[in-house]
Amino acid sequence: MTMTVKCFCSAVVQADDEDTLVAQVSHHASSVHDVELTRDDILAMANSSES
Ligand SMILES: [Zn+2]
Repeated sequence: MTMTVKCFCSAVVQADDEDTLVAQVSHHASSVHDVELTRDDILAMANSSES
């Protein structure tokens, strides 16, 4: 299962599991936008697709 988060800046983060997705989106948000997102925030933004 691939999980995808599309940031408001149009950056797309994809990962194969929840922990990796959370880590990558959290890193993107804090380094690029200086925003701290919680795990719940990130999972609420995520789309899953079976593939
Ligand atoms: Zn972004």
